[in-house]
Amino acid sequence: MNALAATSRNFKQAAKLLGLDSKLEKSLLIPFREIKVECTIPKDDGTLASYVGFRVQHDNARGPMKGGIRYHHEVDPDEVNALAQLMTWKTAVANIPYGGAKGGIGCSPGELSISELERLTRVFTQKIHDLIGIHTDVPAPDMGTNSQTMAWILDEYSKFHGYSPAVVTGKPVDLGGSLGRDAATGRGVLFATEALLAEHGKSIAGQRFVIQGFGNVGSWAAQLITEAGGKVIAISDVTGAVKNSNGLDIPKLMKHSAENRGIKGFDGGDAIDPRSLLTEECDVLIPAALGGVINKDNANDIKAKYIIEAANHPTDPEADEILSKKGVLILPDILANSGGVTVSYFEWVQNIQGFMWDEEKVNSELRTYMQRGFRDVKEMCRSHHCDLRMGAFTLGVNRVARATVLRGWES
Ligand code: GLU
Repeated sequence: MNALAATSRNFKQAAKLLGLDSKLEKSLLIPFREIKVECTIPKDDGTLASYVGFRVQHDNARGPMKGGIRYHHEVDPDEVNALAQLMTWKTAVANIPYGGAKGGIGCSPGELSISELERLTRVFTQKIHDLIGIHTDVPAPDMGTNSQTMAWILDEYSKFHGYSPAVVTGKPVDLGGSLGRDAATGRGVLFATEALLAEHGKSIAGQRFVIQGFGNVGSWAAQLITEAGGKVIAISDVTGAVKNSNGLDIPKLMKHSAENRGIKGFDGGDAIDPRSLLTEECDVLIPAALGGVINKDNANDIKAKYIIEAANHPTDPEADEILSKKGVLILPDILANSGGVTVSYFEWVQNIQGFMWDEEKVNSELRTYMQRGFRDVKEMCRSHHCDLRMGAFTLGVNRVARATVLRGWES
């Protein structure tokens, strides 16, 4: 199912559970603003290349719109729309004072040189600089982008508006980025997993994990889970997949991946077919890559007891139904991966205050936010008799609906 159809379906189900007014429901679903821009840059060989960039600003009832910018060849308007909508519910679940947005450029970042990526990022920023800002819309990294991309956006934006570090988060620490931001999504995944397992009398130690994706989120999650005593037995990335039933040596795998641009060829385990990774025998499955990977074609074969959605919308609604019948518990994306945007919020707060927190404070505040998010979601599950995904959606949608009504949406 297409990402937008899946996200909107979840939203509508939550709106029904909440008994939302149909006019309010419609207004919450339609994005505040959709931006589409053409970005032409000279390539290193002197030829011109054109790309399409997007920024969808979904909702700002609770505060400035917030969300990452993705560079990926599959970026399309529907996907950016779905991801922007998810950010609105995610920031509300985390209870941070933001709305939701998402951006992206349809390109293959691995095929562009550093200077081509810089030119593309600067042209994109020139096209959207009037529509983003510290109190309107604050971009951050996502798939295919990183702290360097944010530094270029900050620099380009500052040429028009004066030096404004708080206009982006996920910046390099030297430019006002927050300590702990790089690891934040992975660390949030760890805290959320701990909260879920604790409910079932379990801890990270002793559980077997399978992780799809070894980028920023997957690699930090693997490292932190291993440090907490969990056994990561299989991992995949775009280059391949590797399995070791005794537990993979994550620091060694990170070194291999950095040196070889991927995990392919790692000798600390057996190479397996990446397509069979999601159906490997394990306790906890963590999709930390693309959307839609758990669908009606493979849901029946999944053997994990818990799925922690580190990626955005990895599970199709049809798979949700199949997995729920099988008794698999799914910790949904808008809770499980909210650690990244939560520390983005801490970064923005530090920039505005002109004051830097130490890493211990960032991590302990993140733990508090993740545990609170989990408790609040469980409370909604109890009062609406629903699963964790609907618990998270009803929580997020209800907070945004309340803010919208309080601001006087009908007048
Ligand atoms: N791209 C991340 C997400 O999907 C982080 C967004 C942010 O920090 O604004 O949640």
